[in-house]
Amino acid sequence: MKKVLIFSLAVIFGFALVMGCGPEEKAKTEEKAAAEAPAKTIFVTIGTGGITGVYYPTGGAIAKIMNKKKDQYGIRATVESTGGSVFNVNAVMAGDLEFGVVQSDRQFQAINGMAEWKDKGKQEDLRAVFTIHPESITLVAAVDAGIETIQDLKGKRVNIGNPGSGQRQNSIDALTAAGINYETDITAESVKAAEAPGLLQDGRIDAFFYTVGHPAGNIKEATAGARKVRIVPITGPGIDKLIAENPYYAKATIPASLYPGAANDADVETFGVKATFVTSAKVPENVVYAITKEVFDNFEDFKKLHPAYIVLTKANMLEGQSAPIHAGAEKYYKEAGLK
Ligand code: GLU
Repeated sequence: MKKVLIFSLAVIFGFALVMGCGPEEKAKTEEKAAAEAPAKTIFVTIGTGGITGVYYPTGGAIAKIMNKKKDQYGIRATVESTGGSVFNVNAVMAGDLEFGVVQSDRQFQAINGMAEWKDKGKQEDLRAVFTIHPESITLVAAVDAGIETIQDLKGKRVNIGNPGSGQRQNSIDALTAAGINYETDITAESVKAAEAPGLLQDGRIDAFFYTVGHPAGNIKEATAGARKVRIVPITGPGIDKLIAENPYYAKATIPASLYPGAANDADVETFGVKATFVTSAKVPENVVYAITKEVFDNFEDFKKLHPAYIVLTKANMLEGQSAPIHAGAEKYYKEAGLK
């Protein structure tokens, strides 16, 4: 079959050569094509997360800023909902996506060949562009399940996150640090974060973990149903040790005021990471330069696109990266005097 195809192509190609026009006519044809064809558009896709998370609107915010200048740069950005950080790193490395939103801890693990990349090795082509909003390891539990601390998860049905998500490893780390074996002490579910609020409301799970910026649609959905839920603190000596031992983890607080439907009367102590914007060394410099320049040159407009960006400054958007900065982003930072 393949041979037949090659043969047919060869025949067609040969025929075209024989019938082909002389140099003059060829030049004319090319001229005509150039006049008719619009300037070639470069399409770039940004990998995000579930549509009720913060990555999806983040991809949308970056694409929106970028597409305002699509005629100037000839670049059109689109957004894709994905399984999350780990999926995004792998898709960017495979060349299936040009950009991805990725947790800072996952960026660290990918560049160093750890966790999901232990067998695949260091993802050496991974490049950092900028850092975005803080994300907290968020544990949401049904009040009727009697879960007030992470220790209370023992014997419960808990969603730890789908393979491909950033949060899965964070859930495992938190559980392990709290002395809970996720394979034997709980019934661990592996569904996507977007499905967890519905499962919790339907009584099919008792709790779920989600590493996400706040406020998030997902947590609003979980706290707005008939079944009362609370955001559970993730604290204790084991968690303190986990934070001390890992450079990418830091203490974090979730303001209770963001979720009036939750049964919390005080802010919730937990730990967190940061969302980062990454690409591949193979993505051209002009593309990464353009996207970096548009986000930073329109910083105040960008900040208004999501309430989780309230804490962003140009300076902290350059912190928390572990992969090398992409040459296109570096060029902009030098030009803008940010580095
Ligand atoms: N942190 C999650 C992940 O990496 C995604 C959170 C979101 O979509 O906002 O999978």
